[in-house]
Amino acid sequence: MARIVQKFGGTSVADIERIKNAAQLAKMEYDAGNQVVVVVSAMAGITNQLVDYVNQIDREFDPEEYDVVVSTGEQSNAGLMALAIQNLGIKSRSWLGWQIPIQTDAIHEKARIVNVNTEELEKCLSDGEIAVVPGFQGISADNRITTLGRGGSDLTAVALAGALKAERCDIFTDVDGIYTTDPRIVGKAQKLDKITYEEMLEMASLGSKVLQTRSVELAMNYNVKMQVRSSFGNTPGTFVVSEDEIMEQQVVSGISQSKDEAKITLLKVADRPGIAAAIFGPLADAEINVDMIVQNVSEDGKTTDLTFTVGEVDLEKAVNVLKKNKSDIGIGEIIPDSDVVKISVVGVGMRSHAGVAQKMFMTLAEKGINIKVISTSEIRVSVLVAEEYGELAIRALHTAYGLDAN
Ligand code: ADP
Ligand code: ASP
Ligand code: MG
Repeated sequence: MARIVQKFGGTSVADIERIKNAAQLAKMEYDAGNQVVVVVSAMAGITNQLVDYVNQIDREFDPEEYDVVVSTGEQSNAGLMALAIQNLGIKSRSWLGWQIPIQTDAIHEKARIVNVNTEELEKCLSDGEIAVVPGFQGISADNRITTLGRGGSDLTAVALAGALKAERCDIFTDVDGIYTTDPRIVGKAQKLDKITYEEMLEMASLGSKVLQTRSVELAMNYNVKMQVRSSFGNTPGTFVVSEDEIMEQQVVSGISQSKDEAKITLLKVADRPGIAAAIFGPLADAEINVDMIVQNVSEDGKTTDLTFTVGEVDLEKAVNVLKKNKSDIGIGEIIPDSDVVKISVVGVGMRSHAGVAQKMFMTLAEKGINIKVISTSEIRVSVLVAEEYGELAIRALHTAYGLDAN
């Protein structure tokens, strides 16, 4: 007997018919003799609707009440799923995050899981029941509902799979696996049989939202075997595995894009020691994450230009912080630009192969696409380009690295 956690994303439980379909998938595993825990998302679109309701009352909302509101989409679906499973003749009950409990810290809207108590769930499973858990939420030490960040039902599923020592964590969604790039953007994207945790972690954090970044991180740390698969067909999906489980490494395994980026260029910045600290210190104090940075060589030895990226949501705040400190620091001009996209190529094979970045630059040059900022890590190369060239760039790179499906 194996223990399996199944997570159904928003489109897979978007209406009653789909909830019934997902219940059948749970029954299949149960009938095969397995213990099953089901994690559900809210119906597609519901969380956005709830966020909108909150914003209609107060755009600077109280995060504690925000979490009370936005966690409800998953809660009603958990009850509906338990009912749908009961209707198939299997004992089932819902377990809300606080009833388990899934304990988190008190950082509302993006809480971290600190502990999952498995006692009650263990009892439920050994009684032959299917446990249904709403994703995306837990409870803080001061007894408030918390949510785990958008896409956080993936994290709930992985955390439960880790705590319950499940054999597998199946993430059911609206595509049949993880592709070399978003199949909705590149028709020639190829489905991967396997991808390493490290590559998926990079891809997720660089914009491939098929899995929530923190869920991949947790799966990697606790060695949870994850599979991304479709709830609309019964084909095997893509397994996220450790590196030693992949025999032949591709140099480039995938390409990600993120439109949630913005670029800030500072012109005529005083070129003196301590200038970077003077610029980035106040941004860090304002909890603004800075990602890519380039500093130009100073022509006259007195001033230089500096370009960096922040999340698009933080652009206005970042510009305000810089304006406030502009004359103290010695900045000539601040130029914000949100019409940019970050494109990244990812692959663990890059560790042992040279020339990946060069191929990227050549390919973009051939298409006449100007690169605004570059950054690299051991297993990725990222470039920032104008948003209008984003899709062209991804397609060209996908072909150049030999990733196109035949
Ligand atoms: P769910 O609601 O089930 O959690 P998501 O919308 O979060 O589903 O994730 C599935 C979507 O991720 C797909 O519809 C697809 O457009 C997108 N996606 C982005 N990058 C990739 C990729 N590399 N492979 C597969 N899907 C991807
Ligand atoms: N419903 C939440 C969201 O839309 C969590 C999830 O679906 O994973 O972000
Ligand atoms: Mg998702």
